[in-house]
Amino acid sequence: MSQSLIKVDRPTCAKPARVAGAKTTIGFVNLGCSKNQVDSEIMLGTLVSGGFELTADAGKAEVVIINTCGFIEEAKQESINTIIDHSRLKKEGACRVLIAAGCLAQRYQGDLLKELPELDGVVGTGEFGKIAEICRDLLAPKKRHRRLWISQPPYLYDELAPRLRLGRRHGAYVKIAEGCNRNCAFCAIPLMRGKQRSRPVDSIVAEARRLAAEGVKELNLISQDTVNYGVDLGLRQGLVSLLRELVKVEGLRWIRPFYLYPQQVTDELLDLYAGEEKITKYIDMPLQHINDRMLNRMHRLGDRAAVEKLVARIRTRIPGVTFRTAFIVGFPGETDAAFEELRRYVEDAEFDRVAAFLYSDEEGTPAVDLEGKIDRPVMEERRNELLALQEQIAAAKGREQIGSTLEVLVDGPSEETDLLLEGRHQGLAPEIDGAVYINDGTAEAGEFVQVKITDAATYDLVGHIIP
Ligand code: SF4
Repeated sequence: MSQSLIKVDRPTCAKPARVAGAKTTIGFVNLGCSKNQVDSEIMLGTLVSGGFELTADAGKAEVVIINTCGFIEEAKQESINTIIDHSRLKKEGACRVLIAAGCLAQRYQGDLLKELPELDGVVGTGEFGKIAEICRDLLAPKKRHRRLWISQPPYLYDELAPRLRLGRRHGAYVKIAEGCNRNCAFCAIPLMRGKQRSRPVDSIVAEARRLAAEGVKELNLISQDTVNYGVDLGLRQGLVSLLRELVKVEGLRWIRPFYLYPQQVTDELLDLYAGEEKITKYIDMPLQHINDRMLNRMHRLGDRAAVEKLVARIRTRIPGVTFRTAFIVGFPGETDAAFEELRRYVEDAEFDRVAAFLYSDEEGTPAVDLEGKIDRPVMEERRNELLALQEQIAAAKGREQIGSTLEVLVDGPSEETDLLLEGRHQGLAPEIDGAVYINDGTAEAGEFVQVKITDAATYDLVGHIIP
């Protein structure tokens, strides 16, 4: 690690009397993306099957586990702050063991243990299946032994792994592969998660059946490179084969693949999207940039012409598709003209949703050595400009939906107020997109209802249930 990870002050506090529980209690903090959420759910399931008790009261937890994110600078800093913040529990609460797991742990390994003396264990992405064993080891009444648990390749769960799901009961994430074979110049994921390894179709289908039997209606398929699913298993058109099996699973209503790389997207795949009712008409495809020179420096496959052709093909073959994409602003060498080209592209393409990330130097990636680094204020200005533009586009698209009737999956009472219900039509993905607020009518969480749209805010819609 070339720089200190720690940028916050450690809190000081007096330790109150510790109340020991009858069972060993675990407190758990999940950070990062949906892939991390699945890892957390597997760890929680493994801990419960291993005889531990979970607690939501951090002060009572004897073991505190932070599942960290190491994706970009901001995520790393959040992970470190969370670890330091929770270290207070060793003085204030019942905490005897503090563990950092996940991406940041895998990436910084021994350096993390060295830089954060409050940590007892550092558990990489290959060791999740052993988490109960690791906790027992660290709790053993012997001399304190701080330790690393790191191995390669990262752990890939199967349908038999115990899993304790977080979040809504009617939706679940399923990880279909781990790792990535691409070499995008800015990305540290292959360093943390290794080369791609896909789960067999049968394993994913078995898990989907179990989840459907538990009441899951919406299945969200995640990996680092979903289009490439199955290549390591020797499958041709692996995603197509997988989706064909998943749509047969009774009880599932929406199947939503995330993270499609803009290459190897076949007509067969797009036609399956268009023709199969259960596959959401929703494409999540990070494009990263549009300027040819930038795409080349990013080591992305394909140029502007190829991207434009693909976006047009998707829109033609999947009528009414919702298109979500993401761009990086401030990649080394991004001139004003290159950014302007990106801005104009976003203006013309009128995507439904656009995320914009600031470039950050990630140790070990090729982009670190590139010249032409952009100052942070310039990057922020570019991101703000892109997002402000997208806000206008999204608001106009929202207004177009007023008067229409949409099928909505009810997520439950609104987080804003109990007077409203909140749900999503199939063009709104959980957690990352907006919501449909329902101001008239009743429904349970997990129910599908028809909603007449009467109003629209930038990313949200408002309407009432049609009986
Ligand atoms: S495809 Fe995605 S995960 Fe793979 S290297 Fe590129 S940005 Fe990283």
